[in-house]
Amino acid sequence: MKFQMMLVFVVMGLAPVLIFLRVSLSAYQSQALEQRISELKYHANIISNLILNSNFLVTKESSSASDINLEISQVADVYKGRIIIVDENLCILKDTYGLEEGKTLISEEAVLGIQGKSSSYIDTESEYVELVLPITKPSSQENEGLMIMSFSISNIFEIKDALTARFRLIAAFFAVFIVIAAIMTALYFIHPWEKTAASVERLSDGYFDEYLAESGFTETIHVAKAINEMLNKIQKLENSRQEFVSNVSHELKTPITSMKVLSDSLVSQPDAPVELYREFMLDIGAEIERENKIINDLLSLVKMDKTSGEMNIASVNINELLEMILKRLRPIAQKRNIELVFESFRPVTAEVDEVKLSLAVNNLIENAIKYNYDDGWVRVSLNADHKFFYIKVSDSGVGIPEEAQDNIFERFYRVDKAHSRETGGTGLGLSITRNAILMHRGAIKVYSKEKEGTTFTVRVPLNYIL
Ligand code: ADP
Repeated sequence: MKFQMMLVFVVMGLAPVLIFLRVSLSAYQSQALEQRISELKYHANIISNLILNSNFLVTKESSSASDINLEISQVADVYKGRIIIVDENLCILKDTYGLEEGKTLISEEAVLGIQGKSSSYIDTESEYVELVLPITKPSSQENEGLMIMSFSISNIFEIKDALTARFRLIAAFFAVFIVIAAIMTALYFIHPWEKTAASVERLSDGYFDEYLAESGFTETIHVAKAINEMLNKIQKLENSRQEFVSNVSHELKTPITSMKVLSDSLVSQPDAPVELYREFMLDIGAEIERENKIINDLLSLVKMDKTSGEMNIASVNINELLEMILKRLRPIAQKRNIELVFESFRPVTAEVDEVKLSLAVNNLIENAIKYNYDDGWVRVSLNADHKFFYIKVSDSGVGIPEEAQDNIFERFYRVDKAHSRETGGTGLGLSITRNAILMHRGAIKVYSKEKEGTTFTVRVPLNYIL
């Protein structure tokens, strides 16, 4: 980027200078040539007048030619060139070089000139200009002859060459200046980015607890802010991962510790009665079951953490699915005389992963029974519109304190740890539910009032969105 930036600065800085110098040179050349031609035409006019006044082209008398000779030789001298004067028969009367007098001039320009057509020709290769000017009598507009001026313009090109050399020097000076300025500017603009890149490199070495300095340009500040925000998220994720691992170990260790205590106490009593053995073995069995439940829940959670590629989508009758779940849970509800009601507003068929959705809804209804009062009620309802279906699970249970409502979906979170353990809760149920719903691109919300009851609402698209 540094190099590209420098290149852009150099090109942008140097191109206008070079264009300006080139345009100036060609403007000088055309201006100087124009001026030279107009000067020559001015002198040609004077000579023409002299010739016409002396009637030289008609009489061809050498006595009247002295003024003309003086004037043409002066002009030819000053402008370093040759002047030829021919009569209407293209016979050369005057040649300042004295080479062709008396001969007949044959050229296309001369023939056209005698017909009244003046012309000018600039030869930049040989560096001369040639003017063909008819000598016309103003009174009759008759062409009496022709004047041909051929003059060197090498001094114009000499000046142009000198200017070119000087301009090249100026361009070289500018080039050096612009390159230095470009390097300095590029370094100045790149520096904050390099600093940011160096900090990011340190991050990739694993120093996640370091934050980027939010300084430099507005853009680098934005980037640093975005990276810092990302770091915050990574840090939070890392913390929650560590917390999860320590929670998992703790949760898995608790039943094992209990079993160890139970078996140790049996071992320490060699003559313990069979009843005690039976009682302790039942307790050990319960702990094993609990351990099993935690492991199963963890496995479900891991499955739910995977990508949507793991989804086993099929068209499922949701009414039937809910009926099945309720049928399975009804005996548990009946044990505590809890009324379990299902309300379906319409038949719903949707594209879902049946196993995952069942697990999610099962957890909600199981919780509604678990955290309920004896003789209470649980209502499950199903509704749909053209895009989503909605499942609502309401209960008349203990409710969730407001401050806990944000945390209930976290892994291992339980409002009342002791009570939850009694009821066999692992604190993973709602995490599994939420992940399952999110994998369906759905949403879950909770409304609850302590000691009055809780309502969970779930919204899932009818058609699975990849
Ligand atoms: P658990 O295995 O402990 O039930 P969950 O993740 O399913 O774990 O629920 C987390 C916590 O949310 C529970 O410990 C409980 O305190 C609270 N909770 C969940 N559902 C309800 C409900 N319907 N009524 C009251 N509290 C609930």
